[in-house]
Amino acid sequence: MKIILLFPPPGNLSQPYTSLPALTAFMRREGYEVVQRDLGIEVVKDLLATKQLRRVAARVLTRLETLKNLEEPTRLEEDEREALHRAVVSADYVSHQIEEAKRALRSPVEFFDFDRFRWAANILGLAMDLLSARFWPSRFSFNHGFTNYVMPHYAWSASDLLAATKDERQNVFLNYFANIIVPSILVETPELVGISATYPGQIIPSLTLAQLLKAARPDLHICLGGAALAGMREELLRCPSIFTAIDSIVVCEGEHALLSLARALEGEDDLSAVPNLLYLDGDRVRFTSLYIEDINALPSPDYGGLPLDFYLTPEITVLLPTERGCYWGRCAFCTISTGMRHSYRPRKIELVVEDMKSLNQQLGTRCFFLSTDAISPARMKALARAISDEGLNFHWQTEARLEKALTPETCKTLAQGGCRHLRMGLESGSQQVLDAMDKGLRVEDAARITRHCHKAGISVHLCLILGFPSETRAQARETLAFIEANREAISSLTYALFALYKGSRVYDEPQRYGITSMQLPPDDWLNGNIYSYEVSRGMAWDEVAGEAYPEGVQSLSRSLPFALPLIGCFMAAAHPLHFFTQWAYLPYLVHYGVNHYRELPFAVCSPWPSNVEQALHLKPVLNEEILSRNGNNHVLTLFNPQRGVIFSLEQEASALLSLCNGQSTVRQVVEQFSADRRGVDLVKTYFRGLQLCTKLLQERFLKVINGEDKEQ
Ligand code: SF4
Repeated sequence: MKIILLFPPPGNLSQPYTSLPALTAFMRREGYEVVQRDLGIEVVKDLLATKQLRRVAARVLTRLETLKNLEEPTRLEEDEREALHRAVVSADYVSHQIEEAKRALRSPVEFFDFDRFRWAANILGLAMDLLSARFWPSRFSFNHGFTNYVMPHYAWSASDLLAATKDERQNVFLNYFANIIVPSILVETPELVGISATYPGQIIPSLTLAQLLKAARPDLHICLGGAALAGMREELLRCPSIFTAIDSIVVCEGEHALLSLARALEGEDDLSAVPNLLYLDGDRVRFTSLYIEDINALPSPDYGGLPLDFYLTPEITVLLPTERGCYWGRCAFCTISTGMRHSYRPRKIELVVEDMKSLNQQLGTRCFFLSTDAISPARMKALARAISDEGLNFHWQTEARLEKALTPETCKTLAQGGCRHLRMGLESGSQQVLDAMDKGLRVEDAARITRHCHKAGISVHLCLILGFPSETRAQARETLAFIEANREAISSLTYALFALYKGSRVYDEPQRYGITSMQLPPDDWLNGNIYSYEVSRGMAWDEVAGEAYPEGVQSLSRSLPFALPLIGCFMAAAHPLHFFTQWAYLPYLVHYGVNHYRELPFAVCSPWPSNVEQALHLKPVLNEEILSRNGNNHVLTLFNPQRGVIFSLEQEASALLSLCNGQSTVRQVVEQFSADRRGVDLVKTYFRGLQLCTKLLQERFLKVINGEDKEQ
């Protein structure tokens, strides 16, 4: 039997995800012929390419002309017109430069030139914006380092998801799959196709692909699986309609499920004997039985057949699973141990080292992202010692807990054994919130551990959660204070809003966390079990999202000015490892920043300069490299090709540009700008003008005539 395994877009542009190589290795060991394809990276080759983007740009321009001629456009048509204006301002340049941008990201020299890296990543982002504009309001975009896909006119109900798969006007992938991908799959004459959806954004593309395959080959068995569906067993049991597109869904671990499915299709059994499976039995969806894998009996991942040269990185960082489940398993917001991964199962360290060696031989890679929910210090230490003892020149990053066992000595051992980057969940700088979460962590220990890692040469990424139920504004500020106090030892962070997942302890014991009500979604809602809720104490949701989050982002931007813009444009979690391996640690960035931004000493990512006093004395003028285009009567869109950045100014704010003549200082420009707006709140206008000026300077839309010279 021939099996084709597919990883649909959106995906990770710098490394293959681990699900297909794990399944491929297992099925090949059992004697099956397996073809694995990462469509997430094939999209980059096929759709984000010069010829294709030029075609898209022509379609976007035609649509824009139509919208311009509308006498009374609706609100939606106005929004669309604005999105198209933004896309066309850079369309020619981006279409022309896209291959150069991809090449730069694969170049071992240009990748490490931060300005070049940022330019290339931005061009990729603009190419995705152009493609998205053609299918407006759908968005195929970067999101926290990965690509993301949303079709906002469709909800998460099964009926909407299925309708989205047939929408030629808004579905970015429909025609591409129909004309390019499906024929290339069918030519292989498979008997079983497995589609693995890890991220929620992959659900519509997965169903689109399945529908098309099913229409072309009704006899073909199509099985869906992956983490995006793993927590949705109960919802899927209520959704027989979803089985019009697919034949079965694996909702837990996949190795033995896929093997049993293949054997069942060969006639050895029926679907009821396949573990971890949902299938349609008459008009009812049935779940078979639960099977938990022995992680030590699984083979090393097999990346054979994946187009490794397509990925946008100078060296592939291999995702390598080292355990399933979490040894701690107690955090109140988390569903890892209760929902998806069942019991904690570590893979023996000697097997992990063998995996690394075999992948190094197979792919030539020295960089590994140990794929785990949290690996213990003892296991990291054992791994580092084994790598050192064998004299292997491997580098790795992983996800771990802030454990007291990460002493200076242990951190030194880890660094000597190749550890370069640890991603750890601090979540909060408030002891009360940490206790409510059951993190098992003291704030003062977190600070010590972070410093120990930093001193040993291991960069630290901290994950923060804002808005845990019952958290107060004052407690949220304690988190910001922690980051500010420990900023020297932190390289990057993730600042996420709390999400309530079914299966978490917060969901099971809502009263304990001050939750008074939870709004359950409709029965056929496939949204990953995120529920909205109300609380009786702490911040309400509106305060969290509307006030505390913007305040936090501004504060964190000031604390980590060099780390945030870098991390913000990373296209994948694998990239920091390359940077930290090459440059050892954050001081590179600080050094680089200080040297490189000498002419703009406040060039931080915050919209607020850290050195306002200095900014006020600069004499800005429009950079003649800038391409600009009048968006419409309300918006002026600017494009800076040197940096690959677009900026839209409202008509009123664009008046500020005409004041930037190279003769007046920022102070004079801003004063004139606010004076011209008599009747408007003077203080507000002044600060708005200052904010705009500094943002335009940071992104080099404005250049500075007098550099750092102070006004006499
Ligand atoms: S948040 Fe991390 S440490 Fe806590 S239970 Fe989940 S996986 Fe484990």
